[in-house]
Amino acid sequence: MPAPQPPTPPAGPPAGVCARCRRCCTLAPGQEGLVFPLSQADLERIDQALGHARWRAQSPNSQEFLAMLAKLFPKSPAGLARAFPLGASHWRLAVAGDGRCFFLGQGGCGLTPEQRPAHCRLFPVWRLGNHILPLRVECLAIAEAKDMRGLMKSLDLDVALVKELFARIQGAWGLEEGRDA
Ligand code: SF4
Ligand code: SF4
Repeated sequence: MPAPQPPTPPAGPPAGVCARCRRCCTLAPGQEGLVFPLSQADLERIDQALGHARWRAQSPNSQEFLAMLAKLFPKSPAGLARAFPLGASHWRLAVAGDGRCFFLGQGGCGLTPEQRPAHCRLFPVWRLGNHILPLRVECLAIAEAKDMRGLMKSLDLDVALVKELFARIQGAWGLEEGRDA
């Protein structure tokens, strides 16, 4: 994306570069309302894996939250308005008082890659039309990678997985490109 600002948290695999960094799994104070939303599939999968729902919290669909999503899905304004009406709320990852994601431990994310929210697996890689590119964010994986291929490799991503994860996110909210037309 020319690179819209990032959704807050998400991250990559627990081992490797993300375990050394953990930047995107920790929020600055007061940023809870800008955490990327969880889909119904994320909620059901993680609830089932944990056997409880203490890992998640709700935030209102604020103007600031919608503006963040609009940068990430610039071709889906109507879909965003349908999925996240002002005044309603959405589920997000819960964070501790110091801003750490509920799942963040000493070794990085405590969830398996398959359990993680789709946006956590994808970040900081995003898709704009047919382009796969890094978000313009501070990220150790981006800083250390020589190129896009190296970045994807360090995050255990490949083109097929990026497309699948992105389609999962779009499908969860009805944000497929062209649907707004
Ligand atoms: S390297 Fe990037 S994706 Fe991994 S934890 Fe740090 S900011 Fe997040
Ligand atoms: S679920 Fe895991 S990857 Fe996602 S923000 Fe929390 S610790 Fe980071």
